[in-house]
Amino acid sequence: MSNRILVVDDLPANVKLLEVKLNSQYYEVSTASNGKDALQVAQTKTPDIILLDVMMPEMDGFECCKRLKSDPKTAYIPVVMVTALSSVQDRVTGLSVGADDFLTKPINDLALFARIRSLLRLKQMTDEFRLRNLSGSEFTEAGETGLPTDINTEDAKIALVDDDIVQAKNNADKLSAKGHKVSIYSDPKEAMEAIKSPDLDLIIVSTQLIEMDGLRLCSHFKSQSETRHVPLLMLIEEDDTETIVKGLDLGANDYLVTPTDVNELTARVITQVRRKRYQNALRSNVQETVSMAVRDGLTNLYNRRYFDVHIKNMLEKMKADGKPLTMMISDIDHFKKINDTYGHVVGDEILRQVPTEMINNIRATDLVARYGGEEFVIVMPGIETPPAQDVAQRICNKIAAQNFKISGGDGTLKCTVSIGVASAKPDDTPESLIKRADQALYQAKESGRNRVVTSSESATPPTAA
Ligand code: GH3
Ligand code: MG
Ligand code: MG
Repeated sequence: MSNRILVVDDLPANVKLLEVKLNSQYYEVSTASNGKDALQVAQTKTPDIILLDVMMPEMDGFECCKRLKSDPKTAYIPVVMVTALSSVQDRVTGLSVGADDFLTKPINDLALFARIRSLLRLKQMTDEFRLRNLSGSEFTEAGETGLPTDINTEDAKIALVDDDIVQAKNNADKLSAKGHKVSIYSDPKEAMEAIKSPDLDLIIVSTQLIEMDGLRLCSHFKSQSETRHVPLLMLIEEDDTETIVKGLDLGANDYLVTPTDVNELTARVITQVRRKRYQNALRSNVQETVSMAVRDGLTNLYNRRYFDVHIKNMLEKMKADGKPLTMMISDIDHFKKINDTYGHVVGDEILRQVPTEMINNIRATDLVARYGGEEFVIVMPGIETPPAQDVAQRICNKIAAQNFKISGGDGTLKCTVSIGVASAKPDDTPESLIKRADQALYQAKESGRNRVVTSSESATPPTAA
């Protein structure tokens, strides 16, 4: 699908001009002739980028941008403000209402297309994380994704590469005055070696270096895995469109003309820092959502869904490696009675403590999962029936001997478990293996509880005495 661009301008001729240019690059163009319509079209057509004229009657571009950026449905769409004047004040106002970039009329085609490509790349990345967050929240049935709406942009960690020491110091001072931490690298080769931290909020690179082509540095930082996601801002000479275009295509996120204006410098830095931190938040939210989806909320053990995948993979791996695999299913005895006597809160307290005894008696490579209400499974790769049976017996004994702490009754409670053990056979599926362990558990319950029963269909036939 081609990328969609919304062009907003009150003069039909300007709209037409941009539409023709963008169509020539196969972008799908929607148009609006005032701020109000723009807000509406942004909602219905969900464009990938909005080109927004600043000077329009009634609602001007700044106000329109501000509203786009304060609505969660449109806030993530990059906005490029199109201005007739290239006044610094306009840029600063634009950045403060959340604009992502500026183009000055008459629009230079190369700069326009390079800027669009760069913003589209950025948006693709953000979209991917937003999508994963959405599907993640479906998976966990938690509607809230918990994404921050307010990103802290203070105390940014910035690396500045510039061999013009006076200029470097000057820019660093401007940023330090706003509370950011700036490290200056005046030797580009050293910068390449030293700048490796993905925790940086921003890298600023001068493209007017003596010893090295600044664009080479940009390309280096954008291709290294450590710094690829760190935003990159180029310092360029006035009207150096060629460098701007090349730099943006190499992955630089923005540029500034030297000598820099303090307000524009800080506004652009904050824009990049906000984006970086937003993406960090999206990314860690995805990881958290994934972890929520495989963990059980009460015990923090792996859940049934994870176990089902894990046992299948484990079984295949053990078969391929020709190694044994044993599993056990344990079920707390008369657990209903605990709930009925002491209440669910105490029941939950027991459910949290029982697996601890299991974990304390198995290896790090064994996996415990909550299989159901008061049932836990343990997968033991590389272990045959006899040692697994010993482990199960030890767990059974330890739990029976334990005085579990509870918040009701007289503060402690005894409980026991029954355990079924089964080892994998060469033709086992996860289902057939689990079924044998379950049958063994049933026998343990039937024969009096608080005991271990091993499936008689064992993988390794007992050796004759
Ligand atoms: P048996 O010895 O035969 O296993 O008897 P039981 O009472 O343990 O077995 P049963 O399956 O009849 O009851 C299990 C109970 O576990 C019923 C259910 O309400 C309770 N339960 C399941 N999940 C939870 C939970 O998350 N918290 C609490 N407190 N109770 C739970
Ligand atoms: Mg039970
Ligand atoms: Mg049960």
